Amino acid sequence: MFDTTLVLWDIDHTLIETRGVGGEGIEPRNGLRGPYARALARQYEQHADDFRERGRALPGALDALTAVAELPGVVQTVLTGNLRSVAMIKLRVFGLGDFVDVDAGAYGDDADDRPRLVSIAQRRASATYGTTFDRANTVVIGDSPADIDTALTGALP
Ligand SMILES: [Mg+2]
Repeated sequence: MFDTTLVLWDIDHTLIETRGVGGEGIEPRNGLRGPYARALARQYEQHADDFRERGRALPGALDALTAVAELPGVVQTVLTGNLRSVAMIKLRVFGLGDFVDVDAGAYGDDADDRPRLVSIAQRRASATYGTTFDRANTVVIGDSPADIDTALTGALP
């Protein structure tokens, strides 16, 4: 048994900063989610060069992801209010996508309530890796008090 710790990385202002390109504050609701997600992803794709030029991976982000990826027994992925399609573009543009298991993550498409994303990611990772991920073996890494609240209230007991 090697997969014993789940690391959930916030994206914006933890791994990258976008300096005003795009934004994560818009939360699509119900019927708008699919069309909105596709339109937003298209915008990010079309402006990927601008996004790459104006944004950046934060100092140490690549090193941290690389180091954690090399730890035995650790699964790392993302937990973000970004739509999954947008998160994928952000990670790819800044060269961070190869270090996380994106299928085990949780995204703005999955729930409007950010703490709920923790249990969604835990269940996905548990199903994929055959290990139960709960409060005892899950770490949330973020940049804001909201990330702390998410970790404390959202993890499976
Ligand atoms: Mg953040």
